[in-house]
Amino acid sequence: MKKVIVITGASSGIGEATAKRLAKAGNPVVLAARREQRLQAIVADIEAIGGQAAYLVTDVTQREEVQALADLAVEKFGRIDVWMNNAGLMPQSTFDQLKVAEWDRMVDVNIKGVLYGIAAALPVMRKQQSGQFINVSSVAGHVVHAGSGVYAGTKFAVRAISDGLRQEEAAAGSHIRVTVISPGAVATELTETITDAAAKKRIDALYDAVAIAPERIAEAVDYAIAAPEDTSVNEILIRPTKQV
Ligand code: NDP
Repeated sequence: MKKVIVITGASSGIGEATAKRLAKAGNPVVLAARREQRLQAIVADIEAIGGQAAYLVTDVTQREEVQALADLAVEKFGRIDVWMNNAGLMPQSTFDQLKVAEWDRMVDVNIKGVLYGIAAALPVMRKQQSGQFINVSSVAGHVVHAGSGVYAGTKFAVRAISDGLRQEEAAAGSHIRVTVISPGAVATELTETITDAAAKKRIDALYDAVAIAPERIAEAVDYAIAAPEDTSVNEILIRPTKQV
């Protein structure tokens, strides 16, 4: 069955790869991010292969904009089967540098953006008595390193929020599924958000050595969505084979 799929952070990397894979399989996709030209180009690519796609320029830190995204999906395609909270950034640095504006930004996008997505899509899914959240955490949602404290904190939070939601929806019998996708190093633009030179050097070296393509993560998302409705894939932890 074809599903209506909303993806935040769809203008590059994992979100773009997932949108293209799922649209190619015939699912209507609704794309969100801030860079409009990127979104337009991805929609054009999808339409060129006969897929259905729409986009809305959305900053996930603005609750009204995330609500408008949900409204657009329902208006255009009638329902929301999957909502993928994927937008995120990773400006890693040590605490002593006091890059407080970057801490704020990570909390706003990586945590509050996910919460706003839940607030926008949950009422629609409750009404449908079906739906699935795909919340993107990270290996950093399991493991902390010096320099990754705030980023890891946001990704631990994504896992906690997701499991709280999962338990509530299971108890309510709402047929809503919650899946966490926790990737290791993936070759995307994410590392460009790092402003600290030492952290950038360390992470670029890791990514240059081991990172896998975003299409690998798109395959994992596809698997979680395709599971039979009575089965909830709760988390997929997926690393490059060479990542320690
Ligand atoms: P990219 O930088 O390629 O993608 C990040 C996406 O988030 C972009 O589409 C960007 O779009 C969007 N975004 C950033 N801020 C906002 C905002 N305020 N509102 C809306 N969209 C926003 O990196 P990835 O594809 O790697 O990242 C996707 C997710 O995967 C993130 O949550 C990241 O933490 C997670 N992840 C990535 C890993 C990796 O190694 N790459 C590993 C583990 C997890 P725009 O700038 O146009 O708004």
